[in-house]
Amino acid sequence: MRAAFYQGNETIAVGECIPVAPGPGDVRIRVAYCGICGTDLHVYHGKMDKRVQIPQIIGHEMSGEIEELGEGVSGLRIGDRVVVRPLQPCGSCPACQRELSHICYNLKFLGLDTPGAFQGSWTVPAHAVHRLPEAVSLEQGALVEPLAVACHDVRMAELREGESAVVIGGGPIGLLIALVARSVGADVLVSEIHPFRRKLAEELGIETVDPQATDLERFVLDRTAKAGADAVFEVSGTQAGVEAMTKLARARGRVVMVAIHSQLAQVDLFRFFWRELRLIGARVYEPQDYERAIAVAASGEIPLQRLVSATYSLDELRRAFQEMESGAEVVKILIRCSE
Ligand SMILES: [Zn+2]
Ligand SMILES: [Zn+2]
Repeated sequence: MRAAFYQGNETIAVGECIPVAPGPGDVRIRVAYCGICGTDLHVYHGKMDKRVQIPQIIGHEMSGEIEELGEGVSGLRIGDRVVVRPLQPCGSCPACQRELSHICYNLKFLGLDTPGAFQGSWTVPAHAVHRLPEAVSLEQGALVEPLAVACHDVRMAELREGESAVVIGGGPIGLLIALVARSVGADVLVSEIHPFRRKLAEELGIETVDPQATDLERFVLDRTAKAGADAVFEVSGTQAGVEAMTKLARARGRVVMVAIHSQLAQVDLFRFFWRELRLIGARVYEPQDYERAIAVAASGEIPLQRLVSATYSLDELRRAFQEMESGAEVVKILIRCSE
């Protein structure tokens, strides 16, 4: 089978390798599609070289079909169409003991800390596998992972029908949060500086605003009867986004931190005090978020296909990475991992 190896220094080599036989409790999945995530781009740029062993097969936003079952696996069958929740918790740390294994203190992320899905066949623990219903295609299945992130974020925000939400940052995750927020009946606004992303959001029926051209705070106050938004999602990862989030939330509003801020940001803590704001961290997903994402995908209420900008073969993976970083107008690129 084919596999793509990250070799450091923005180098990806695609070659032949032998499928890993599933050990006890594992399954081997023929990988159909694997999407490229922002995290994969970080790896490609060498920003995670301390964490990722080189050479490493990366990739985690996948879908596929079970080809082989390890010893003791029950509830799954060969031929099942599946997606993988790429988390391997330790099972014994304080977070795991509190049923927060998705933020395990020793969490291993499949496809970063272990080999990933940019290969013809991927062997993973069966506990990480979720089955896809007939109504979800394998292409859509490859979007379940980022969709589950959005489902987790919206659930953590406790967003309800009729509430107002502002999403700061309209990349793939921001767009998905906006679509999930709309599906629970919230009134959603996306703040995004890139015209291409605003145009796509608008085409999907999501209202947008360019914060560089419009006074975002005034805009949000005007559409919320001067109250501010019930929930604000910070997805931009920028200082400007952090400054905006405290200005946009209503009295006792919820601010959900989705972006990975690797630098210390300046936060208006006075505003947290003054408006009794609540800051909620939201990281990856729990099993129920995967089930919700699969149900949302099956319902057809979110046009997932519209987020796929291009599909390439595994041998074209390097080109796909280059396209994503060239500033080209892409949202998601899917990689066909087996023919
Ligand atoms: Zn991802
Ligand atoms: Zn743990």
